[in-house]
Amino acid sequence: MKPVKAIGFDLFNTLISADPGGVELAMARIIANLRQAGFPLEEETFKTAYRQAAIHFIKEARREGRETHNRFWISAALTELGYDLPPEDPRIAAAVEAYFSAFYDFCHLIPGTVEMLRELGERYPLGLLSNFTHAPAARGLMEHLGLTPYFDVVLISGDLGYRKPHPYVFRRLIEALDVPQAQILFIGDDLEPDIRGALEAGLRAVWMTYVRESQAPPFPSSVTPGEEIPEDGVDRIVTWDDLFGLLASE
Ligand SMILES: [Mg+2]
Repeated sequence: MKPVKAIGFDLFNTLISADPGGVELAMARIIANLRQAGFPLEEETFKTAYRQAAIHFIKEARREGRETHNRFWISAALTELGYDLPPEDPRIAAAVEAYFSAFYDFCHLIPGTVEMLRELGERYPLGLLSNFTHAPAARGLMEHLGLTPYFDVVLISGDLGYRKPHPYVFRRLIEALDVPQAQILFIGDDLEPDIRGALEAGLRAVWMTYVRESQAPPFPSSVTPGEEIPEDGVDRIVTWDDLFGLLASE
């Protein structure tokens, strides 16, 4: 096997974990924000309409591997409740920002992450490839948690228009890192987007299971508990020490 020349990372549940109840906090911020903007929303009614809209738009977008955005979900939920507000309305943009502002309060770094990035950043180009609808929020969160300086490349699905596992986003990562794909290690927690996506794009994949092992609430994650890794030759790590061990055994 050719030596590793660059490393790519997923963001959520790979570098960052979330407190339980985080999404509820974020939902409460949307509702408070829209009420302040003059919409007398009833909490449970809005939540139900928002969830139904989210499910609809996510299903539509993922059929072709595309990304969607929260502004469409909020607009559709408000329309459902009798308020006609297009997705481009600045009040919806403000509600989106309110939603993601909560992430600063409930997202944390997985232990040792900054130290790991500092050390590996001296040895390899580092890339980040995240499935995240609202790219400015992902970038803001990375900045807030002190991750930004360690990455040579930051790619967010909300900017790219497609999500992992779509090959387009991995091609963008390979191009940006400017290293042959077989020499890029991609580390992520989600089997379908991260592991299968990376393998299908010709990268090497490492399954990071710290969040799963530590019983931290998986968010946002599509991994079914008990699901076993299907591919032979995919290394599994639980801590960053495991990653250093893996790289040392190259
Ligand atoms: Mg993840």
